[in-house]
Amino acid sequence: MSVPPLSLHLDGAALAANWRSLAAMSGRAACGAAVKADAYGLGAIEAARRLVDAGCRDFFVATWAEARELAAHVPALSVLHGVREADMAEALESPARPVLNTAHQVARWKEAGGGVCDVMVDTGMNRLGLSIAEATSGLLDGLNIDTLMSHLACADEAVPLNERQRARFAGLAGRTAARRLSLANSCGIALGKGYHFDLTRPGIALYGGVQVPAFDGRIVQVVTPRAEILQRRCVKAGETVGYNATWTAPRDTEVAILNLGYADGYFRGFSGKGAALTDGKRLPVLGRVSMDLTAVQVDAAPELAEGDQVDIEFALPHAAAIAGMSQYELLTGMGSRYARIWNDQHA
Ligand SMILES: *Cc1c(COP(=O)(O)O)cnc(C)c1O
Repeated sequence: MSVPPLSLHLDGAALAANWRSLAAMSGRAACGAAVKADAYGLGAIEAARRLVDAGCRDFFVATWAEARELAAHVPALSVLHGVREADMAEALESPARPVLNTAHQVARWKEAGGGVCDVMVDTGMNRLGLSIAEATSGLLDGLNIDTLMSHLACADEAVPLNERQRARFAGLAGRTAARRLSLANSCGIALGKGYHFDLTRPGIALYGGVQVPAFDGRIVQVVTPRAEILQRRCVKAGETVGYNATWTAPRDTEVAILNLGYADGYFRGFSGKGAALTDGKRLPVLGRVSMDLTAVQVDAAPELAEGDQVDIEFALPHAAAIAGMSQYELLTGMGSRYARIWNDQHA
């Protein structure tokens, strides 16, 4: 069996542990999982399988194409974009529930005699959702609503908008026929009990995202890219490495060229800042990340040779800080050239 040249190592035990931590932090509320965008790039079916095994019941995707792929693998699925006219035939057949966002979507679902649905209410983000006035106007009468939800704009920040959204949402309790209320994304869970309602909807923290101190030590890394050395060379003092010659060797330097680049979501922000890891040693990126190639310094690892593989430093909070990007962008940008390899052994 040949080893794939470029892979993402996905820690199934870490994914399950992160869900259990978030479920515990959600208190009495059920804890779901946002698996839209192919589970933020990890692979929705494989991620969902492990989350179901851990005890997760409620899953969220963005589109009907995503729902089509996942519906048979999860107990309950909600489609956040709701139903466009073109989605109706598929939505009526699907076990997934649309999250109705607009008066048009509500009318469409009622007219078609659609079954159980969810409803999104906007409480201050001004992205998707009915206004509170619409939601309490009688518009929702006659719908069979499982979950009434809203979404926090700034859950990763301590700002007054969080409490404003929470209070507006809490004011809807008992004013619709919805069986459950749901407000919190990952960071919303960390805002405390008042934000949990009946169901929480973490995404990024499941996959190792740490945006608030409450997740330090509770949320662990899930995703580690692994790349292969295509060539090892000695760059003489005064020579340069890579496009635009941005790195000059101060002395003779051992360099390994790896088979990953910005087309794999190893973005240019890692130029001169990222690193590969081997045997606990950090091998810094030299010069500019190319589309398909990245150079790292390997003086500290004389044993590494052409054909050997190294892990890429990818702890999300650190990686996002050095790349100047969000943890969401790093995960969802990982691209299709990686073999996605799950390891479910407990470390
Ligand atoms: C993406 C999304 C989530 C998950 O958010 P995270 O910040 O990744 O935890 C929850 N709810 C809705 C409506 C979303 O769009």
